[in-house]
Amino acid sequence: MPSEKQGCIAEVKSATGVNANRCYQCGKCSAGCALNENMDYPPSVVMRLLQTNSEECYGSVLRSQAIWLCASCQSCLTRCPMQIDIPLLMDYLRAQALEKKVANKKSKKIIAFHRAFLDSLRYTGRLYEVGLVAGYKLRTLDFLQDLSVAPRMLLKGKLPLLPEMVKGRKLMKKLFR
Ligand code: SF4
Ligand code: SF4
Repeated sequence: MPSEKQGCIAEVKSATGVNANRCYQCGKCSAGCALNENMDYPPSVVMRLLQTNSEECYGSVLRSQAIWLCASCQSCLTRCPMQIDIPLLMDYLRAQALEKKVANKKSKKIIAFHRAFLDSLRYTGRLYEVGLVAGYKLRTLDFLQDLSVAPRMLLKGKLPLLPEMVKGRKLMKKLFR
């Protein structure tokens, strides 16, 4: 096993400040996670896999469906006696999975939504619903899903056709870089 100084524990700690070794496996995060039953690895198991500090276990975490199912609801963080920021950790793991091109294949639609959402923030500085839907549909080629809802939402003014741009978009782009 690699030493803590060079394995995924150190990498994750340096990028997020989360120290996997502080977790003492009480399981409170998993017990309070609403998506636990659908995850291949509940949050406490993600922590345990990271604690092994092995490439193999880190790879399993990066390839997992769990990191994409996590809704960043903060429930685990609220319950954790060690205040381990699992939502932040999950966010980092998602970015790593994409960067290393090992993202879970069954999570394609979630990943398409994730990318479309981030694109909306990157280019307008806030959520632009029409752009988000267009980006999602282009990535999934699922043009018919929820088609009947769009006209009603447009008529009720819930879907502005043009994006509202925030000030300081240059800063936003810098943040993404
Ligand atoms: S932030 Fe993610 S892992 Fe934590 S409780 Fe919510 S869905 Fe579960
Ligand atoms: S609640 Fe905190 S200490 Fe307990 S298993 Fe989850 S991360 Fe570890």
